[in-house]
Amino acid sequence: MSEWCQNKKCPEKKNQNQIRGSKGAKYYQSNKASGYGHWCSMGCREEWWNEHKDTCIQAVGFIDKQILPLEDAWYVAYRYDWREEERNRYVLINKLKGIDQQITKQQAQTPEQIANNHSWYTIDDTQAKELAIQLGLAN
Ligand SMILES: [Zn+2]
Repeated sequence: MSEWCQNKKCPEKKNQNQIRGSKGAKYYQSNKASGYGHWCSMGCREEWWNEHKDTCIQAVGFIDKQILPLEDAWYVAYRYDWREEERNRYVLINKLKGIDQQITKQQAQTPEQIANNHSWYTIDDTQAKELAIQLGLAN
C-alpha cells in the first residue's frame, strides 16, 4: 500500500496544489490517493488501468461465459407510477418465466428499509427468489 496516487503521470497534471519546493527548485508531485482507491482521481485511475489492464487480467485469470439460469432470475423492483399509490408500486419479476407480479411493500422491503422510508430500496435477489417460492411461483 502507498498513500500516493499510483498513476506515475500524476505530476503531469501540473495542478497548483501539486507544487512543492523553494524558488528556483520547484517541482510538481503526485497527489495523495483518496476516494478512488489507489488513485487521486478517476482520470488517474483510468490512465493506470489503460497501461496495466493486461497485467491485471493475467493475474486474475480469464473466465468463461457465465449464465444466470431461469430459477435464479428473480428480482424485486420499485416501479414509479404516479397513478399508483406508493404501496402498489412493488413488483416481483422473472422475465425469463414471463412473470411480473405486483407485491406488497411488506413483501418488497426489509423491516429496516420500511423503517428508514427508503421507498425505492428493495430486498436482494436471493430474498426475491425466496419470496417467489413462498408465493408458489417457484420451487
Ligand atoms: Zn493522480
